[in-house]
Amino acid sequence: MPHIAIIGAGITGVTTAYALLERGYSVTVLDRHRYAAMETSFANGGQLSASNAEVWNSAATILKGLRWMLRSDAPLLMNPKPSWHKYSWIGEFVGGITRYRANTIETTKLAIEARKHLFSIAQRENIAFDLERRGILHVYHDKAGFEAGLRVNTLLQQGGLDRRPVTADEIRSIEPALQTACYGGFFTPSDATGDIHKFTRGLAEACIRRGAAFIHEADVDTIARSDDGFRIGWNDVASHDAGLAPRHELQADGIVICAGVASRHSQACSTTASTSIR
Ligand SMILES: Cc1cc2nc3c(=O)[nH]c(=O)nc-3n(C[C@H](O)[C@H](O)[C@H](O)COP(=O)(O)OP(=O)(O)OC[C@H]3O[C@@H](n4cnc5c(N)ncnc54)[C@H](O)[C@@H]3O)c2cc1C
Repeated sequence: MPHIAIIGAGITGVTTAYALLERGYSVTVLDRHRYAAMETSFANGGQLSASNAEVWNSAATILKGLRWMLRSDAPLLMNPKPSWHKYSWIGEFVGGITRYRANTIETTKLAIEARKHLFSIAQRENIAFDLERRGILHVYHDKAGFEAGLRVNTLLQQGGLDRRPVTADEIRSIEPALQTACYGGFFTPSDATGDIHKFTRGLAEACIRRGAAFIHEADVDTIARSDDGFRIGWNDVASHDAGLAPRHELQADGIVICAGVASRHSQACSTTASTSIR
């Protein structure tokens, strides 16, 4: 079977490896860390939620983003310094506003399917990841926020999600630890929480049991086309730090880049290889 190299052993790389193995491919996963799930997939909000499927492409997000630029405690902050990449991305983001409703409904459907897959993989591979299937509550402190939430809820329900409005009293009975005053909220009983790092590490072990190779401490910096596929090159991280930097190479029939978004190398590799993924 074709040999596929996957760059990045976060949740995206490891779930991709698992899906390819299930389809009979031979798989090698490369990551610059010693273990899987050591960057974004090390710790996140822990939500396995379809209730957060509302897409961000809306005028309200733009206004919120502009207001946040004036706050020192903003949850998200954009540096206005111009770059072509940043402003073309903003252009695409704004262009997506016209598809806000349709995309929110489709994303909800996708999230429900993804959640179902994740639960069934965890069960099949016996992965312990502190899964709590007790639902997720969204809480609103004022009427205006709640009513905006109601409009979003209609779209989530159109996507097939069981998510119902709840009163302040119901919120306190669902979550007795929540004692602050609130106006109302929404409860999604089918949502859950879990530890992304434990899940990804458990799934990486399942991939190894199914025959995948994991090469760690491999800082991939080149991807080149060859006659029979791709050549992927990297330095060994430990030797690199010691100033020795021996080169390694791997031949593959196809590549999937799952290198996250934050790193210099992942951006370089994505740019080089985005037309090469097959
Ligand atoms: C604060 C926060 C909270 C979040 N909360 C939630 C939540 O509650 N629920 C949810 O579903 N999602 C949440 N997310 C999103 C989710 O955690 C991420 O989308 C997910 O972890 C991304 O996984 P990834 O595999 O794409 O990237 P990563 O986990 O970052 O993996 C990328 C991997 O690629 C490797 N890599 C990169 N470049 C190279 C290279 N050149 N050579 C070798 N290896 C390389 C890195 O070492 C890394 O291991 C949250 C995100 C954040 C930031």
